[in-house]
Amino acid sequence: KQGGSDVRANTTTAVAQADGSFLITGHKWFTSAPNSDLLLVLAQLPEGLSCFFVPRILPDGSRNNIALQRLKNKLGNHSNASSEVEYHEAVGWLVGEPGRGVRTIIEMVNMTRLDCATASAAVMRNGTTAAAHHANYRSAFGAKLVDQPLMRNVLADLHVDAEASTLTALWLADLTDRAMRDERAAQLRRISLAISKYFICKRAPMHAAEALECLGGNGYVEDSRMPRLFRESPLMSIWEGSGNVAALDTLRAIGREPQTLEVLFDELDAATGADRAYDDALAAVKGSFADMSTLEYRARDIVGRLASLLSASLLIRHGHPAVADAYVNSRLDGSWGSVYGTLGGGVDTAALIARATPKV
Ligand SMILES: Cc1cc2nc3c(=O)[nH]c(=O)nc-3n(C[C@H](O)[C@H](O)[C@H](O)COP(=O)(O)OP(=O)(O)OC[C@H]3O[C@@H](n4cnc5c(N)ncnc54)[C@H](O)[C@@H]3O)c2cc1C
Repeated sequence: KQGGSDVRANTTTAVAQADGSFLITGHKWFTSAPNSDLLLVLAQLPEGLSCFFVPRILPDGSRNNIALQRLKNKLGNHSNASSEVEYHEAVGWLVGEPGRGVRTIIEMVNMTRLDCATASAAVMRNGTTAAAHHANYRSAFGAKLVDQPLMRNVLADLHVDAEASTLTALWLADLTDRAMRDERAAQLRRISLAISKYFICKRAPMHAAEALECLGGNGYVEDSRMPRLFRESPLMSIWEGSGNVAALDTLRAIGREPQTLEVLFDELDAATGADRAYDDALAAVKGSFADMSTLEYRARDIVGRLASLLSASLLIRHGHPAVADAYVNSRLDGSWGSVYGTLGGGVDTAALIARATPKV
């Protein structure tokens, strides 16, 4: 099917009418919330792909020609219907300039990317608090789980990513507001949102699986609510640019607007001097742009490292010292294992677990 990541391959067409409206004909493989009052639809005009406002009910009260063909039977995300639709001369109105559809719809897409990052951070926080709460009440082998050293490592490690992601997502939300009136903030937001959407969303499924496991068998049972977090978690990474596409988009944006990388490095430079591991990781990522010929192959690595540095810089400047220390001296210094629960020594697990545990 055409479309998807390759937005410009869209074959839906729009034909101008004398009254200023357009008749839209074509197919859409994925339309979420098709019950919405209006849809933003991309369709081809002679000038190129353009964005249209398509209401479900027309101003005269009649139904627009939007045929729902099938609802998707999805892994999760069941509360949000997703469908296949066909437009048979559906009536729409142009939004933005003809031929500038992608540029127009990107404003909405960027808000949804922020939602994806925020929702992934929320999934992590939700899973962490459920795990910490359970560990405070469940005893095995003669002691509460929360008092057993290896479980403390897992809980603290889960919390590190939950807090780093939450701080980054909230900072991005503030930056989104500032970007409306400040060009530097707009450039910083362009790159920071892209790298963070990629990285925060990528971590959520691993995090959800580990948080679920902290509840043992109960975590696999629907009553615990953990399966819902698990099912929802991969979706945020697929939506609005799945992993590879998001990483490649970031590099493309840097290629087109190199100043976005400069403002990001300025932002990251502001946190130097506090932790040697951070300073070394920042110097290393700056060096990784030297070989441009292999950039596409290394896109996930580079974008992930930039995103980790951004979260680390925010934690160093605005976060809890124990979280900042644990994040930098695991995620940035190469010592962290490939699974949760592999923090090294010297981590203030008491402070981290206290921040993860809901007060009841
Ligand atoms: C529940 C759900 C709801 C959705 N709702 C909507 C909606 O309301 N509106 C809407 O427009 N879309 C919607 N989508 C579609 C979604 O945005 C796309 O599925 C998503 O962007 C991925 O595109 P694709 O399916 O075309 O995958 P593809 O583009 O076929 O990608 C498949 C894989 O290949 C990778 N890939 C693609 N290109 C490259 C490349 N150049 N190099 C390396 N790897 C690459 C991708 O990262 C991915 O892993 C929805 C999807 C889901 C799952």
